Amino acid sequence: MRLKSLEINGFKSFADKTVIDFMPGMTGIVGPNGSGKSNIIEAIRWVMGEQSAKGLRGSTMSDVIFGGSKNRRALGRAMVTMTIDNSDHFLHTDFDEVQVSRRLYRDGQAEYLINGVKSRLKDITDLFVDTGLGRESFSIINQGKVEEIFNAKAEDRRAIIEDVAGVFKYKQNKLKSQNELAQTQENLARLLDIVKEIS
Ligand code: ATP
Repeated sequence: MRLKSLEINGFKSFADKTVIDFMPGMTGIVGPNGSGKSNIIEAIRWVMGEQSAKGLRGSTMSDVIFGGSKNRRALGRAMVTMTIDNSDHFLHTDFDEVQVSRRLYRDGQAEYLINGVKSRLKDITDLFVDTGLGRESFSIINQGKVEEIFNAKAEDRRAIIEDVAGVFKYKQNKLKSQNELAQTQENLARLLDIVKEIS
């Protein structure tokens, strides 16, 4: 799996449609302070379903929409599309190429698309679950995050390692099964009470 390209349109400082093609190998993005380097990373996090406006350095989610500049009026919509080469089927889908898009209008209307088909946030989350690429994952390390990891408590650091190792999904499944088991035991106890009453 490889990030092939990113199309940013109306997102933060990217008022015009901008396409960034990522070549195989390592890519470095350089530019003066305030030129939008972090906005590119935030566009990736946003299209993968980021829900925290604060996490994107805003106060409400509509802050991600281009808010105007000296020479340019504010826009009414932000859109980001991420294209992933999935020829190795690392993402659990039959598609060799996966396009994930997210749109947000100023009136709050929003939508996600997977390969052009309207999808739910859950579909996006499911697509990336256990790949180490989810919105909470450590495949994207923000400024200041490195220190946070070093200064974290041992249990928190363990959670990070478990997430990277792909254990998270199994822990979730275990919790779900334990809840179901507890519910079943409760039902069984209630049933035994009823049996006792009528016998
Ligand atoms: P540094 O090197 O200082 O970390 P950077 O290259 O990472 O900077 P960013 O933080 O990505 O730069 O971009 C900041 C710029 O994006 C600021 O000029 C800010 O005004 C602009 N910006 C952020 N949100 C919006 C928005 N909604 N509309 C228009 N411009 C925006």
